[in-house]
Amino acid sequence: MTTPTILWFRRDLRLSDQAALIAAASEGPVVPVYILDDDTPKHRKMGGASRWWLHHSLASLGAALRDKGSRLILRRGKSDTVLGELADDVGTTRVHCIRHYEPWWRNAERAVAQALDLVCHDGNYLLPPGSVTTGSGDPYKIYTPFWRALKEHMPPPDPANRPRDIPAPSSWPKSDTLADWDLLPTKPDWATGFAQEWSPGEDGARARVDDFVSEAADYDATRNLPSVEGSSRLSPHLHFGEVSPAYVWHRTMKAGGSVDVFLGEIGWRDYAQNVILQFPEYASKNARDRFDPLPWRDLREAKGDFAAWKQGRTGYPIVDAGMRQLWTTGWMHNRVRMIAASFLIKHLLIDWRHGEQWFWDTLVDADYGSNAVNWQWVAGTGIDSNMFSRIMAPLSQSEKFDAGDYIREWVPELAKLSDAVIHDPDEHGCRPKDYPAKVIGHREGRERALAAYAKVK
Ligand SMILES: Cc1cc2nc3c(=O)[nH]c(=O)nc-3n(C[C@H](O)[C@H](O)[C@H](O)COP(=O)(O)OP(=O)(O)OC[C@H]3O[C@@H](n4cnc5c(N)ncnc54)[C@H](O)[C@@H]3O)c2cc1C
Repeated sequence: MTTPTILWFRRDLRLSDQAALIAAASEGPVVPVYILDDDTPKHRKMGGASRWWLHHSLASLGAALRDKGSRLILRRGKSDTVLGELADDVGTTRVHCIRHYEPWWRNAERAVAQALDLVCHDGNYLLPPGSVTTGSGDPYKIYTPFWRALKEHMPPPDPANRPRDIPAPSSWPKSDTLADWDLLPTKPDWATGFAQEWSPGEDGARARVDDFVSEAADYDATRNLPSVEGSSRLSPHLHFGEVSPAYVWHRTMKAGGSVDVFLGEIGWRDYAQNVILQFPEYASKNARDRFDPLPWRDLREAKGDFAAWKQGRTGYPIVDAGMRQLWTTGWMHNRVRMIAASFLIKHLLIDWRHGEQWFWDTLVDADYGSNAVNWQWVAGTGIDSNMFSRIMAPLSQSEKFDAGDYIREWVPELAKLSDAVIHDPDEHGCRPKDYPAKVIGHREGRERALAAYAKVK
């Protein structure tokens, strides 16, 4: 077969263990394409931090393809329209892709399949979302039984190597230039701290896996300590598909030691996709509709508090450290994400959907399923979630998880404070002048949240 085949990349920006690439390359010449599509996701188009990551990941993928004598074609527009045009340009109807589960991608796959011969493959999750079901054939709603059932099918198949050759077409269709897409911020360039933290792309992802496996045995003991680099920091690499979860699974298992807790977190990632498959509007609707009448504060009235939260100026050191880490690096420690999200929802009584949107824009790992599932988990509105009435106390969480060094790193105003006082400088009467007072007292915030909850209980 000499007619070219299109390989449609989205959040699967890798050459290894890439089932769509393997299938396309086995059929003949391959035309790899990435389409910058802000139309299909509409208000769910990628946020600023994700666009920064995407730029560098595409640069890396393009270079890896060139090494194989291939290219990455860049086009912009609505995916089904652009794929139709590209198919005409190269004289084919055949397209391979990795299946995606965000509602807009499912719609796009349906639209493409009406006009072209689209073949979807699995590979971005441990198991295809929707394939693990209860005895009665229903999808799981709760994480623990879901994970127990999924593990029965593990380990995942051995990850496939990159194909030795990627056959090139006799001529290449036209392509945009990456720099013209303006994915990087300029005025102001708020991403200067990102480059120090991250190496987007498949090589960077594999290096991150290598680093992590050497310390994976300590994961359980250190993952909740924000001052220690105890977790893998693989989330943006996994989100953009620069490494497959099957690869991560096998590399981690080879490292030995007890890695069950870590693999269980990879399981949360699979679980989140199963949730959005069942509830496509999970990022905008309470899964438990009894929470719909909860009297959130009007954002016009709460504008100042919301701004203080986003800027890391709430007067709660652990929350502020997390929000500043997020702004500077595009990532926040998981324990601190929970504390900061809980603070917004409960202490500030601001609707979780505003927080979800802020994370969507500022996280390099912003993921439709994982973000929504975790926000609803913290809010207590999800199908599997914490109880609303369990209100995290940010100050004691900060002490319990020994966040002193973390706070000193991200809140320089507090850098000189000792562990004994740093978690709550107000309480100890040693708040520096340039650090804000608490936007609300812990007890006051807690009581207001419980009063609001009483209305929907
Ligand atoms: C409010 C809130 C919002 C979040 N939004 C996102 C998001 O948009 N994208 C995202 O990937 N994660 C999100 N998380 C989950 C979690 O915080 C991050 O996955 C984790 O901090 C990433 O760091 P890591 O790679 O070092 O994780 P590790 O602890 O090393 O875990 C390994 C991998 O497992 C997955 N994972 C771990 N915890 C979770 C979890 N709770 N839910 C789903 N997957 C998980 C990630 O892919 C992660 O890379 C959110 C958590 C909270 C509380």
